[in-house]
Amino acid sequence: MRDNRGHHPWRFLGQHFAEWTVVYKPRAELPVGRLGCTRWDLGEVWVAEGQNIADRRSTICHETGHLIRGPFPSWRETYEEALVDRQAARLLIPTAHKLGQALMWNGADYQLTAEELWVDETILNVRLSTLAPREQAWLREQLASVFVDAPA
Ligand SMILES: [Zn+2]
Repeated sequence: MRDNRGHHPWRFLGQHFAEWTVVYKPRAELPVGRLGCTRWDLGEVWVAEGQNIADRRSTICHETGHLIRGPFPSWRETYEEALVDRQAARLLIPTAHKLGQALMWNGADYQLTAEELWVDETILNVRLSTLAPREQAWLREQLASVFVDAPA
């Protein structure tokens, strides 16, 4: 689901998973190192408090990916987490064009680029590391034309 800012995780969640509740929790109540988690037993998506809007947008999109895919056994966790991150990165940064523009405008600074794309740095990293070969070639060509003559 997209509007003029792209995919809208809150709207998507509300329209497709209206029976689920998003609950903001102190970070200490979430599993260590996690900013969100899906509580299948409670019908709740837990989101760590204290995140900025780009981080929350990324977290909600990630957790919605789990809702779409359904519960999984613990031995599939690494696979599921990586897959859901890739899906979220594609939804939140749909085109290499948009990604390239943001990188160029921000001098390839990751933090600024993530802010401009309204995602967290994990989602930006995942999107960059899973570019299709065609996207990678296009992006390399675009960025080379911008950065090759930049003063050292
Ligand atoms: Zn996850």
